[in-house]
Amino acid sequence: DLRPITSTTTTTCGYCGVGCTLDVHVRDDDIAAITPTHGAPVNRGHACIKGRFAHAFTRAEDRLTAPLVRHNGQLVESTWDEALGLVAQRLTDIRDQHGPDAIAMISSARATNEENYLAQKFIRTIIGTNSIDNCSRLCHAPSAAGLTASFGLAGGTNPLDDLDHTDCILLAGANPTEAHPVVGARIKQRVLAGARLVVIDPRRTELAALADVHLQAAPGSNVAVFNGLAHLLIGEDHLDHAFLDHRTTGFDDLATLLADYPPETVAAIADVRSTDLVAAARLFGRAQHPAIVYGLGVTEHAHGTDGVRTLANLAILRGAVGTTGCCGILPLRGQNNVQGASDMGALPDVLPGYQHIAAPAIRARFERAWGRPVPERPGLRIPQMFDAAISGDLRALYVIGEDIAQSDPNSGHVRAALDACEFVVCHDMFRSRTAEHADVVFPAASFLEKDGTFVNFDRRFQRVRPALAPPGQASDDFNILQQVAQAMGTGLGCPTPAAALAECASLTPVFAGLSHQRLEAEGSLHWPCPASDRPGEAVLYLDRFATPDGKAALAARPYLPPGEQPDADFPFLLITGRRLVHYNTGSMTRRTANLELLPTETLEIHPSDAARLDIPDGTDVITTSRWGQTTLTAHPTTDVAPGQVFAAFHFPTAPVNELTSPHTDTATDCPEYKVTAVHIQPV
Ligand code: SF4
Repeated sequence: DLRPITSTTTTTCGYCGVGCTLDVHVRDDDIAAITPTHGAPVNRGHACIKGRFAHAFTRAEDRLTAPLVRHNGQLVESTWDEALGLVAQRLTDIRDQHGPDAIAMISSARATNEENYLAQKFIRTIIGTNSIDNCSRLCHAPSAAGLTASFGLAGGTNPLDDLDHTDCILLAGANPTEAHPVVGARIKQRVLAGARLVVIDPRRTELAALADVHLQAAPGSNVAVFNGLAHLLIGEDHLDHAFLDHRTTGFDDLATLLADYPPETVAAIADVRSTDLVAAARLFGRAQHPAIVYGLGVTEHAHGTDGVRTLANLAILRGAVGTTGCCGILPLRGQNNVQGASDMGALPDVLPGYQHIAAPAIRARFERAWGRPVPERPGLRIPQMFDAAISGDLRALYVIGEDIAQSDPNSGHVRAALDACEFVVCHDMFRSRTAEHADVVFPAASFLEKDGTFVNFDRRFQRVRPALAPPGQASDDFNILQQVAQAMGTGLGCPTPAAALAECASLTPVFAGLSHQRLEAEGSLHWPCPASDRPGEAVLYLDRFATPDGKAALAARPYLPPGEQPDADFPFLLITGRRLVHYNTGSMTRRTANLELLPTETLEIHPSDAARLDIPDGTDVITTSRWGQTTLTAHPTTDVAPGQVFAAFHFPTAPVNELTSPHTDTATDCPEYKVTAVHIQPV
């Protein structure tokens, strides 16, 4: 098509948490192409197949272009006035009759910071409850809890760019080649340039195949493996003694615990070779600039927070965090703005900037600015919301841009919760599985149609700019929330996204120096950014850790088994994850040409298991867990170990979360997506 491009808009990718900067080229109110922005700080001119090519969903025929309201059991198109009036009336009635805690909100890790700021302001001031959560509960809540406990702040310690000078990367529970491709490529480049690579993953991923040591540890054994590596670091004296002496606490307790984790013991728990453990510890221990990169394979476990803390121990023992030239520990956040949604206070126990709701002085500061009381009692976490709906304590659920019926574990339980609610409101671009349970669905804008900011996985605020107008009457979450608040008789203030970030910055010391103006002028800024004349802190803790005593806290955490173990009835362990060309529930990527590259999901199974069960490639198998059943198409591959199977959750036709369990991290309620015992038989 040789017709001229009518506009080019620079914005931030709305898929994964890497936060690539993209140029969106528009012709005739449609996207003609997306290219990575030359010289962009995060992606340096690169982008993956999702960010570059998966944009046709914006003009998909089934995009919602008007509100839907349920009449006689059917969702039908309505006017904005009818939808807003109904939502305002029902939320007001439920709040007034049953109290504010009868309403909960799930905000969106895909929405902008400003939308998340407004969402938590809405639920706290207009409804009067702290029951707001976002999908970080399902992925990196253990990172927020674990990194805060170890170092003081709920984010990674160093920027992605610091991988440029690492000589050894320990990659744990992450497959960035598929889930965070620009990071995957950066790691690969670094390894090809000579850096050593240790991969801890139950699957043989592309980077595992490239690694010096691949510890193919059994699902659920992370804490044992990390303790085993720490045992070896201490035993072979790969320690930064000066750092340990002056800037850490907890060494003696840790050393005592680690006596129980010699290589032979850990090898038996994790089903790895003890010699590989020793080799991995030596590579990491002898490196001058070791880096740790990890993902949901560490967090989405019954002991995910312990996993983060015992992984952080390795960085602390080596002095690889908070020191000049260090490379730190980097959690690969899943969704584009899961860091930002949490940073903005879309959580049940903290206000923006992780300021605790229980602190009277903090609440008072927000109350003065907002002119309304801020509730003190922590709200419900997402899994608690579902339980409360089924018990009758929760009567209304407001869901912004998350398809919880497909993405959350134990889908049957989620459906029961949605059906138990008296009233369900959604914002969505499509009639998702969750929308099918809603009473009102507002037609939502995509990230390509929004104004605001995202925070990527290395704590970098970046601008999001609208390249397109939303179709029909669709609108962004910011405007929808403003209109619902108005319909309930109370404004939210913050007439624009820039005003919302300004208000948030005025109330939140770690964001005090941030503004849309600065981001326009400077491109991106890391938080903490405490003043408008100071740069953001890309590397944390160079002076002191943000813990109460200013020291990094080593954690003595024992290995505890996962929530599920295989047995005679459920002999396989199911791991869930992501594929390169699709994203999360697939609602966007399945409506693009990416679908041709991967039109269906498969259940990966080891060839020896497939042969034993007489399951040729392409066979449909009934897969059953203690929690549900679904049919998946088997694909034998040595990428999974014997006794394990793997599937992604991108397709409603392969609803793998029918199977996943209700077990959650003991500290944060993050679901244990990575370990479910299942039974498999041909159809
Ligand atoms: Fe978007 Fe992530 Fe791909 Fe970058 S790596 S283009 S942020 S999906």
